[in-house]
Amino acid sequence: MKVKTQFVMVLNLDKCIGCHACSVTCKNVWTQRSGLEYAWFNNVETKPGIGFPKNWENQERYKGGWELSGQNLKLKSGSKLNTLLNIFFNPNLPTIEDYSEPFTFDYSYLKNSEEDIFPTLKPISAITHKEIEIKWGVNWEDDLGTTFESRSKDYNFKDIDSSLYSSFENTFMIYLPRLCEHCLNPACVASCPSGAIYKRDEDGIVLIDQNKCRGFRMCVSACPYKKIYYNYKSGKSEKCILCFPRLEVGKPTVCSESCVGRIRYIGVLLYDRDRIKEAASCDEKELYRSQLSIILDPNDEEVISKAIEDGVPENFLDAAKISPVYKMIKEFQIAFPLHPEFRTLPMVYYIPPLSPIQSGLISESDEDVLPDVSKLRIPAKFLANMLTAGDEGPILEALNKLLAIRIYNRNKILYKDCNEGFLERSNLTVSQAEYLYKLLAIADYSDRFVIPTLHKENYDDNYVKKGIVGFPKNDFGG
Ligand code: SF4
Ligand code: SF4
Repeated sequence: MKVKTQFVMVLNLDKCIGCHACSVTCKNVWTQRSGLEYAWFNNVETKPGIGFPKNWENQERYKGGWELSGQNLKLKSGSKLNTLLNIFFNPNLPTIEDYSEPFTFDYSYLKNSEEDIFPTLKPISAITHKEIEIKWGVNWEDDLGTTFESRSKDYNFKDIDSSLYSSFENTFMIYLPRLCEHCLNPACVASCPSGAIYKRDEDGIVLIDQNKCRGFRMCVSACPYKKIYYNYKSGKSEKCILCFPRLEVGKPTVCSESCVGRIRYIGVLLYDRDRIKEAASCDEKELYRSQLSIILDPNDEEVISKAIEDGVPENFLDAAKISPVYKMIKEFQIAFPLHPEFRTLPMVYYIPPLSPIQSGLISESDEDVLPDVSKLRIPAKFLANMLTAGDEGPILEALNKLLAIRIYNRNKILYKDCNEGFLERSNLTVSQAEYLYKLLAIADYSDRFVIPTLHKENYDDNYVKKGIVGFPKNDFGG
């Protein structure tokens, strides 16, 4: 066992209101620059939909992530030799049409127009500076924009008859905020011919050394989440840095700080690095559970002593013990990784959303019976395809818990009646339900963000001066 630490984010999809405050603040801080106009380190998609860039979940198209070859893992994009042969031509890259061409307007025309009619503006490409016709955009599908025919191509309709959800009265939607997953088994790192991408040893943040990047863009196609962007001005790739300058001083990322719905949580997980390969190589349906199995209990004495031996700083250990993300991911198992079948062991987790109950309403005589969560308006299979490689069991268990907590609190507030029977049947005690209600519904800033500061004295003296260049060497090739 080798104990390592990882910063992890959990997003509660039940509370995302799709306001895009996270995306806009991230854009203003990190990608409001020439060469990256089209890039969104954080974006919010409406599901069902094909997303940004188009069809990013379809690895037959982009060849991102890993696949099993016998007992071994190999990059879906091919071997090192394949990478070298394609170094000047990578057929699996998204095009600007897949992302959508960024545009602006000539606002001076509004003031200076001498036309009699009210002036209107035509979009101007931020790349070519010529007028363009807009046919797609990062938010084209927002709030179920576009036709159902287009949205029915959502990858998560696998094994679902999507036509059942085509009419307005039967359809459903959720918001899915997305950022780099800071994976434990990052395909981007493995695909880079220059060794420019690395995973920080001290907290698991994945970064690109801008001095080493040669702009080959193998990482852009290898990342199955399409969260690396090529800066066409600098000729180098860039990605979400999990706002590491903020985390290092104990502050949450910009997207979390600005989140209007307060859906984001950040904390530390301890994991067993020696079992990464094993966890990423099992049967597809077991991937969620195997990923869970390498997360270590921060209160276990054996784990604590091994963590100290492996150099985990005391403040990281303390933070891991009270980590809200550990509670939601491992202890209560209500948060899940996005597409574990890509086998990168992603470290951004999602709590699935509740939705209106289609049938099985509680009658008065049935007051301690939970409605059937498999009949919620959002199909459990759709959520399972997104979060557990198609395994509906863990999703239904989590939805049961979330619904039990909601009904327990509603009864308590409205009827002063705390029927605890259905809590028990959802494997929750009253104190656990109270704790989760506080954490999920009304958590304070300090409950949502438990972020230890970095011990800078342990690392390269010059790293502050060098920006993201020059972090200590690590086991991932940095
Ligand atoms: S999500 Fe982030 S860490 Fe994972 S493969 Fe993509 S760029 Fe790399
Ligand atoms: S700021 Fe929060 S609530 Fe708004 S879209 Fe982003 S994640 Fe959702």
